[in-house]
Amino acid sequence: MFDLQGRSVVVTGGTKGIGRGIATVFARAGANVAVAGRSTADIDTCVADLEQLGSGKVIGVQTDVSDRDQCEALASRTVEAFGGIDVVCANAGVFPDAPLATMTPEQLTGIFAVNVNGTFYAVQACLDALIASGSGRVVLTSSITGPITGYPGWSHYGATKAAQLGFMRTAAIELAPHKITVNAILPGNIMTEGLLDNGEEYIASMARSIPAGALGTPEDIGHLAAFLATKEAGYITGQAIAVDGGQVLPESLDAIAT
Ligand code: NAP
Repeated sequence: MFDLQGRSVVVTGGTKGIGRGIATVFARAGANVAVAGRSTADIDTCVADLEQLGSGKVIGVQTDVSDRDQCEALASRTVEAFGGIDVVCANAGVFPDAPLATMTPEQLTGIFAVNVNGTFYAVQACLDALIASGSGRVVLTSSITGPITGYPGWSHYGATKAAQLGFMRTAAIELAPHKITVNAILPGNIMTEGLLDNGEEYIASMARSIPAGALGTPEDIGHLAAFLATKEAGYITGQAIAVDGGQVLPESLDAIAT
């Protein structure tokens, strides 16, 4: 659908779920793809699968995005392998359940370390290469949860996803002179390994609340990420775009046709 041959992309959290969907769409479009995650077993499987999809190169780099040095090593390895970085998809994120009444300081700082600090570190680490690209792209995976909606147990998670948008708006201004765009995708409920941990009843109740009638797929998010990475999307920056099958639209469950 998109021709991204010659473009090089880093996808954090690219080994599973939404990140894997993003990496898949980029690989099919001919891009060079670097996937990052903590599990080496998942990295190896993912790299082997992605190599079958397109003409670009694929590497995997073990990275914990909450560690700035590891993000810098990820960027260096990618530049070494591909000669540069044109796109960074700061996607790695966690969404553990923690009701406000019992949430510990460790739970609060832990989720910010991955979802917020990890976004900053991944983008900062790739910045010199994005500037050198001349048409750099930053694509954040935020969420409808926080920026638009709420869900019990996810006050800390929602705060991190809203924080990404605060980051995005100023980063978009600071990086515009370098022809770098910074945008955020707000996925609704997407069928991923991580979301499945919430149980079948959660998935079924979510499907009932989505006008499109089903959860999204990781590649639904990948398609928007790939579009934002094209030269044609170069005038779009600082935008938060929901990909949610209309999930945020109904005023009540009665508003959804049965
Ligand atoms: P997932 O299926 O659990 O996959 C998460 C990915 O991130 C894995 O590759 C995981 O690999 C990696 N990861 C987790 N912590 C990491 C860390 N500290 N450093 C590096 N990589 C890390 O999750 P998902 O559902 O695809 O979610 C991905 C992103 O989409 C998150 O930012 C999430 O907030 C957002 N999102 C998801 C949904 C949804 O419905 N699924 C909706 C809205 C937004 P390792 O475990 O090996 O590190």
